Amino acid sequence: MKRLLYLETQPYLRAKEVAGQNQHEVLTPTRGVARSLRQRKQSLRDFATRLLQAQGIIIAPPLNAQRALREAIQQKVQPHDIAGMTRAWMPTVQALLQAAPNLEITLAGYSERAKQLIQVTQLYQHLLHQQNFVDSAEVLWRATEHSPERSPVLIYGYFQPQADELALIEAIAADNSIFCLPLADHALFTHQQRVVDDLQKQGWQVETTPTLAPETPGAWLANQFLNPTATATPDPFEIAAYAYPNSEAEARNVLTQVKQRLHEGVPAREIVVVTQDEAAYGPLLLDIAWEYSVPLRALYSVPLSATRIGAWLTLLLDVVQQQFPFELTARLLSHPLSMNAGAEFWATVRQQRPSGFDSWQKIAQTLEFDLSSLKLPSSARRDTWVEKLKGIFQAFNLRRRASRWARESVAYNALEDGLVTLSRPEGEKLTWPEFAEEVLASLAVLSTPAQPGRGGVELHTPLSVMGARYRHVFVMGALEGELPAPVQNDPMLDFYERKQLKTLGVHLPDAAEFARQAAFEFYALLHTATESFTISYAKVSGEPSVYFKRLGLSFSAIPAKAIASPEEARRIYLRQAESLDDPVLQQAIAAFQVEQHRESSALPNEYDGVVGVPFDYSQHWFSASQVTQLGQCPFKWFASRVLKLAEAEELDEELNPALRGNLYHKVVELALKAAQADPSLDVTDEQRLNDWFIEAEALVKLPSFTAWEARRVEHVKILRRAMQQPEFWPPGTEVLKLEEKFEGEWQGLKIRGYVDRLDRTEDGLVLIDYKTSSKAPVGVKDETGKARIDLQLPLYQAVAALALYPDKAVCRTSYFSLTVGKDISPKKTPTQAELEGVAERLKTTLSTGQYPVQPDIDGHACRYCAYDSLCRAGNRLNRKGETA
Ligand code: SF4
Repeated sequence: MKRLLYLETQPYLRAKEVAGQNQHEVLTPTRGVARSLRQRKQSLRDFATRLLQAQGIIIAPPLNAQRALREAIQQKVQPHDIAGMTRAWMPTVQALLQAAPNLEITLAGYSERAKQLIQVTQLYQHLLHQQNFVDSAEVLWRATEHSPERSPVLIYGYFQPQADELALIEAIAADNSIFCLPLADHALFTHQQRVVDDLQKQGWQVETTPTLAPETPGAWLANQFLNPTATATPDPFEIAAYAYPNSEAEARNVLTQVKQRLHEGVPAREIVVVTQDEAAYGPLLLDIAWEYSVPLRALYSVPLSATRIGAWLTLLLDVVQQQFPFELTARLLSHPLSMNAGAEFWATVRQQRPSGFDSWQKIAQTLEFDLSSLKLPSSARRDTWVEKLKGIFQAFNLRRRASRWARESVAYNALEDGLVTLSRPEGEKLTWPEFAEEVLASLAVLSTPAQPGRGGVELHTPLSVMGARYRHVFVMGALEGELPAPVQNDPMLDFYERKQLKTLGVHLPDAAEFARQAAFEFYALLHTATESFTISYAKVSGEPSVYFKRLGLSFSAIPAKAIASPEEARRIYLRQAESLDDPVLQQAIAAFQVEQHRESSALPNEYDGVVGVPFDYSQHWFSASQVTQLGQCPFKWFASRVLKLAEAEELDEELNPALRGNLYHKVVELALKAAQADPSLDVTDEQRLNDWFIEAEALVKLPSFTAWEARRVEHVKILRRAMQQPEFWPPGTEVLKLEEKFEGEWQGLKIRGYVDRLDRTEDGLVLIDYKTSSKAPVGVKDETGKARIDLQLPLYQAVAALALYPDKAVCRTSYFSLTVGKDISPKKTPTQAELEGVAERLKTTLSTGQYPVQPDIDGHACRYCAYDSLCRAGNRLNRKGETA
């Protein structure tokens, strides 16, 4: 009996034939390759892992491996940034472990960095072995040391076998074994030829049988790749090359073609999408595949830090670390993976703006909702920390919430596995920041497949489909500099050092081998296509790959794209006369038309406040500020008084101008009332003012602000300074009324309100309105659209004075600033004609129901307006009425 090498340019058919005889244990590197042979997947790695497990040796979980390497680096190098160095060194350390059965080599003649690297790798390996762990990169070597049982095997898909793979094959392949390798008389097969030579020295025999050459587009392209000719693509083969404008267009078109194939009845497993950079294309493809309902599977690794679970946990660690600040805690509790706290909870939270664990817990408990699992000690044993974290997961029902997404579910399991490592050594005590830092670091090490699951169309790299067969192959991102993958020098171990190591039996690929491997991967990729092969790139991303030219492909015109999702259909039908029976589209069309009208030069319609419904103002009581609002911008009044839109009650962290105004008004009212009762009282006494502030804060229900005690002192000083000014309370003035209610009529409008203060002087009555601003308030619009007509003081004079003291003369009305302590009344008093003109305009607005978005031309009215996001004021207003 003998062991045979089947050598052909494409050994697939031969391998399939042998596998079908069921006389061999079939070993393939991937599930896709096994599926092509209609076999169950078993790889050399699976075989080795099982063998080691039987000996009590397992592959080190990622966090254990990270820890061991960290310790090895600490012992040998002692760097400043241990975490960064561990991350950076891990790939090269693993490459070294895979490249040789052992690293017992002399270090003379190597650079200091290379020496350190080899020493660290040796120590890392030793630390793992002490715990009965092996690194995943050395599994095959270690398995060969445990005298595996030999059996007849069929090896297929290992087209660029590495030293560790060859060693294990040699150790397990009994007589009658068959190793299928691609081989042709071409420089691309240099590595394979060397492998064949070595295997022959070990007794393998070459079986030469006539090549079974299938007529497939893949085979034709592969032949073109080896021997480029100017031959046109044979007619029966579906081969196409496209240049799309950008990556999104490329992804949408490729997935539309995939969807068409699925509709034609092609099983999903017989279609593959291939790209050199899965992580770059993956998120875009997965998003569009979801929109198109194309079952796309992407198995490339995503660190937990890039998953929802990772984001949630990072937020949780920050919240605890920063002691439950408002914004961050609100973000954590409103995260999709947190419990649904309900509208009542959030309304209370907005009003009270809790900060600190106790404040949050108080609100939560009133709604029978418990946050106590988030209360953590400052230090604890490792195992206690892990238990506490698991307790939080349980309280938030994290596993169940994560199960809505396949990826998050797998991520949760990876996290739980990682916590086992984090809990050891159990007795070690850590502070919360130390433990939190480890959890955070582990999120970068632990990983999950991007889109796990079985079945569906798979996304792969050229390497991961090597040896498989698919009816339809779509290659994306065929850009120069990406396909083939560029040769890059490893900064940890450069090509010169790699060459030196090769002489000692450490087989790390050099630059030429890297380049050859990348080209071979593409060659093998071409072979995978049995019915159609489509290759594309996005023009905006760069130049097309040289492979287009080498294959003799010219770009075809991009075919008309079929509508692949309801969203795409809506985008198209949104602007067309014909429509679809789709309630979402009907609403979208209505909303789109509203938007078009809003942005056009057509006159405002009902969506811009021109509702045309008369308002019976004879029955309505207006305040001075309402009349001012209406006169400044009709829409502002309409939104507030007709639509009754109110701002969400949300507590500010700072004292806002309105609240400050209320507070100052109340303090002055208390002070002057006290002075009315006791005229000898000094209302500017600092201590008394302070007491009135405290009383006023309770009356206006001032929320608690941080460091308010200290900030109150500042406010007392400001108000005291204002009240000490002679204009505040001139000698010979008697305060008659404070916050006095009045009602009356002005120009046919019913007016009611409160006058802040009414004084009697020798010259007559003085009506005062307090302001906290330092300038006179913005008036209503005049005929030119400028907000320069003050209405409030004329209303005081015409309505308040008449209602309160009909028989007394008014000598003055004024605004007094409680911030700067002076009279800030407008310089110019409006004329009677101007006031009448304003009144007429307001009444016309009301009786015609026309409340357009029309602020004053300088936009003063918009400055503190709460409706800016609703009215969409802006440049569009300049266009309004252009066509009228
Ligand atoms: S933001 Fe300006 S335009 Fe808009 S409603 Fe307010 S005042 Fe009117």
